[in-house]
Amino acid sequence: MRDLPSYDPASLEAKWQARWDERHTNEPDLGGAARPFYNLMMFPYPSAEGLHVGNMFAFTGADIYGRFKRLQGYDVFEPMGFDAFGIHSENYALNVGTNPAKLIPQNIAAFRRQLRRFGGMFDWRHELSTTDPAYYKWTQWLFLQLYKAGLAYKKRAAVNWCPKDKTVLANEQVIDGRCERCDTPVEQRFLDQWFFRITNYAERLLENLQNLDWSSSTALLQKNWIGRSEGAELLFETPSGKKITVFTTRPDTVFGATYLVLAPEHPLVDELTALEQRSAVKAYQREVQSKDIVSRNCVANSKSRLSGPARSWRFPPTTNATSSSRRNSSFRFGKWWQSRAKRCLASPSTAC
Ligand SMILES: [Zn+2]
Repeated sequence: MRDLPSYDPASLEAKWQARWDERHTNEPDLGGAARPFYNLMMFPYPSAEGLHVGNMFAFTGADIYGRFKRLQGYDVFEPMGFDAFGIHSENYALNVGTNPAKLIPQNIAAFRRQLRRFGGMFDWRHELSTTDPAYYKWTQWLFLQLYKAGLAYKKRAAVNWCPKDKTVLANEQVIDGRCERCDTPVEQRFLDQWFFRITNYAERLLENLQNLDWSSSTALLQKNWIGRSEGAELLFETPSGKKITVFTTRPDTVFGATYLVLAPEHPLVDELTALEQRSAVKAYQREVQSKDIVSRNCVANSKSRLSGPARSWRFPPTTNATSSSRRNSSFRFGKWWQSRAKRCLASPSTAC
């Protein structure tokens, strides 16, 4: 077998990369391409001095796909950019004690140099950075359009809070219930936050899954993430006339319902708690609040709750509920339960 010349990346790759630059090989005519193909990949976070092997792992496969499409005759546009806002860059800046405004451009320069050496089909004419005001004015514009369309709204919701750093933490910044920066136990706080009404599109996302050329395992992940669940919203009424909505996938089993659980921060908890149970309920609320969101969910899975009637109302096994199994139908319990619940609330220490 004939000996192949040894592969010398330093000379060979430099030669071809210079040729691509010279010939504008990776710069398709975006306005007039005959067979345009947009080969987008995830932009790296410039949150360290250089790229890591995970970045290269992701880019290599995507770049090979771009080359394959080009060989099929497509005008492949492969943009590159830097996703520089966010906790990773912020943490790195805190770690090294340099203002991110100075640090991020340095990191980007290093990332760019490495990505050029990698020899991907990137069109550097269109490089972007999410921290560039010329870029983020468009994300702000998009937000305004969503807001005007009623798709962005403000709501109070639980967050992980570090009392020392006085900041909100993402779940992955909480390690064993403590802040990853300063090791302070993380609390749960309720703060006003912005949300997007993505659930408006859940049905369409689900339906359109079948039009995608995705592996069945990925499609299943997406389906589970959307998490559609068919059932009914049951409306329970307390003796004072307050309504509590409960979603269930099995409205037909409602006759077996024996109690109803409220989340500790439910607005009705204070109102419905009997005097004698108040201190126990308050203690439980404090306990839950002192947990970060992840541990709280673990606790919820292990069914942490107060026992006894302070938080649970028992229903009769049979009742005169008027019901139908249609979606979003309402159920109302009859008088028997109401009078029973009244007794429970009035004297929660007795079995009811
Ligand atoms: Zn902290």
